[in-house]
Amino acid sequence: MELNLQNLNTTEYPVPAELQSNVAITSLNHIYNWGRRNSMWPMLFGLACCAIEMIATASSRFDFSRFGMEVMRATPRQSDLMIVSGTVTKKMVVPIVRLYNQMPEPKYVLAMGACASGGGPFKEGYNVVSGIDKYLPVDVYVPGCPPTPQALLYGLIALQKKIDGQSLVNADDVPWYGVGPSEPTPVPILGPDIIDPRQMDMIRRQAEAHARQEFEEEPVRLEVGRDLPAVGSEAVAAVATKKAAAKSVVKKEEKSFSQAGMSPEAVESLRQKRRENAMARKAARLAKGD
Ligand code: SF4
Repeated sequence: MELNLQNLNTTEYPVPAELQSNVAITSLNHIYNWGRRNSMWPMLFGLACCAIEMIATASSRFDFSRFGMEVMRATPRQSDLMIVSGTVTKKMVVPIVRLYNQMPEPKYVLAMGACASGGGPFKEGYNVVSGIDKYLPVDVYVPGCPPTPQALLYGLIALQKKIDGQSLVNADDVPWYGVGPSEPTPVPILGPDIIDPRQMDMIRRQAEAHARQEFEEEPVRLEVGRDLPAVGSEAVAAVATKKAAAKSVVKKEEKSFSQAGMSPEAVESLRQKRRENAMARKAARLAKGD
């Protein structure tokens, strides 16, 4: 990369004309950010179709080595930049967050494409996360499905501008220089739905309350926490509706038995007969191989 000392001169101290191609006077902030922005090493991984465009960006026609980024690292421990290129599935978000935690600070995340930015064409699909920013702090979003290599280059330039604007003395700009160790991002737990371990207490409390209500045969009134993923809350609502419908059928039947003046023994024997008939039908189906 060409070194332009004129760009580095950021103070009012004059440099004699004959030294201007050899000497620069600048601030620590500026030289530090200049070094970082021109040596970002992205992590070597791709998730889906967008990854092909990322590979094209690294190859000879576009070639992001001009940004000092050609050294894609195959280990998070040597990477500064995570380019999330492609669809993030619920299964994959777990290792992605784990890899992010293994990257040394300062570190940045670029969401490449509609899928990584918000779920894309698979938004709210049963297996897809609606954007990696639900789990990781994203610095730059690159729109498109897929974004072209030029768009990715534009995103990388935007990231460089962001780094230029950061200040070593402002802990809001560079939290990794704040007081004390930084907290790792909690690794989500893969279950029937993806679970944020920070919500574990709330989920456990609600599950216990639900179980207690079922035991006492009270109407189902499970309150779904605002933070639960939409897929989970829909599933809970569907189960609650089914249970309510089944209870109303039983109540109607009991009412009709009492109106017909049937004794409890007669009702029980009728139910027993129905159970036996159902078992017989099931056995017949099994014998037929249905
Ligand atoms: S945004 Fe489009 S091109 Fe990129 S991974 Fe999703 S579906 Fe593929």
